[in-house]
Amino acid sequence: MNSEPSNVVKFYNGEQIPLELHKVRVVQKLHLVPVERRLEAAREAGFNTFQLSTNDVYLDMLTDSGVNAMSDNQIAAMFRADDAYAGSQSFDRLKQAVRDVFGKEYLLPAHQGRACENIIARTFVKPGDVVPMNYHFTTTHAHIDLNGGKIEELVADEAVNPVSTNPFKGNLDPGKLRDCIARHGAGKIPFVRMEASTNLIGGQPFSIANMREIRGICDEFGIMLVLDASLIGENAYFIKMREDEFRDASCADILKTMCGLADLVYFSARKVSSSRGGGICTNDRAIAKKMEHLVPLFEGFLTYGGISVREIEAMAVGLYETTDLTVISQSPSFIEYFIGQMVDMGIPCVTPAGGLGAHIDAGRFLPHIPQEDYPAGALAAAFFIASGVRGMERGTLSSVRDEKGKDILADVELLRLAFPRRVFTLSQVKYVADRMKWLYDNRDLIGGLEFVEEPPVLRFFMGKLRAKSDWPEKLAAKYRRDFGESL
Ligand SMILES: *Cc1c(COP(=O)(O)O)cnc(C)c1O
Repeated sequence: MNSEPSNVVKFYNGEQIPLELHKVRVVQKLHLVPVERRLEAAREAGFNTFQLSTNDVYLDMLTDSGVNAMSDNQIAAMFRADDAYAGSQSFDRLKQAVRDVFGKEYLLPAHQGRACENIIARTFVKPGDVVPMNYHFTTTHAHIDLNGGKIEELVADEAVNPVSTNPFKGNLDPGKLRDCIARHGAGKIPFVRMEASTNLIGGQPFSIANMREIRGICDEFGIMLVLDASLIGENAYFIKMREDEFRDASCADILKTMCGLADLVYFSARKVSSSRGGGICTNDRAIAKKMEHLVPLFEGFLTYGGISVREIEAMAVGLYETTDLTVISQSPSFIEYFIGQMVDMGIPCVTPAGGLGAHIDAGRFLPHIPQEDYPAGALAAAFFIASGVRGMERGTLSSVRDEKGKDILADVELLRLAFPRRVFTLSQVKYVADRMKWLYDNRDLIGGLEFVEEPPVLRFFMGKLRAKSDWPEKLAAKYRRDFGESL
């Protein structure tokens, strides 16, 4: 393992510190409001962090989507955007970037990642089909379902174990893939999907050795291999750090190698390239042609795909910046630092550190709260009260009910704290770790939640809950006693 990422420096006192290799030139004012206001805001939001206003939020760690810091060069490029309905030069520059960075000739633009999934699923998935993948992403799953297909998740069992030392928890298990093909027949499998830095299991990467093996199996059975490259920068970073064959390879070579193994690559530019948009790319003209007509139907003309031309310029520059180790190492090195602090303080979390956020294990943090009382939701609300930091529940609250109206309990109860790229400073990360330690020491004060307004679908976005006792008030009072006048 290569243990020294390019932005991690050794301090004189021996500490390994992930140094910011960028400087701040545009700032946004933040609000660290008193704990009494945080308690009130949590109540107004129905203890649902999606319902908070950023006026009450100190650090917004809800997501890494569309909220990454842009570089000076990205902002500069936006000024020369060519506003043309058809044949825009901005699109030519994006095509060139996709050619240079992903090594793909044909590019279909779409307004974001899920729009790419709509086009891919409509084109290739038929009723009764099965799409094997390392792990699902919410929107991927929905689009495959919508077209009558089913997904099969074929990560190794180890991947869903929160505590692990496996460097490649995102690997697709080749044995399970062979078994899946044997059970359904290759004719029922329109494509195999590999997701880089597998989002929902904690941003965990796969190795190139694994991708090569999966490519080999796809070739054997004549099945297409699709790469979801939304979080490819971080996966490439982990390959450089953790896969011996690539420790001296450039990020550009690693990215090209990954994309070269896939027939079709798609991405959410809200993540990779720190802009807003998406795209599907391939070197196979016939594959591109099959999907092409859906772009003007759902997105916009073929040279903008529903994306602002300014964002297209920023995307092109952002893709080139994905080949820079100091850019793609920033978020994972901060996450690794934070997870190191959690482990040192004995706070339960997902290990090893992944690529888009840190995941606190609410199941082990709050063993006294039954899953029906939403421990991860309670932890998200409690942590907001304790810190003003907004995370996202990833557990039973984000799940659904069965036909009898009973909650389907999630495999794991997690609080996700996203680390948008180049947005926070290390003192802010230290603040998050400090308040998490305080909350852990006071975890017995935290109680459960129950729904008061429960939407029938995607209930975690708009749902409202209440505390099952006066625990939020007690928690806020304890905070005030411990921190005195301090915010
Ligand atoms: C975010 C994400 C998507 C969907 O992209 P949007 O731009 O949010 O529609 C798809 N796949 C992965 C892995 C993602 O992280």
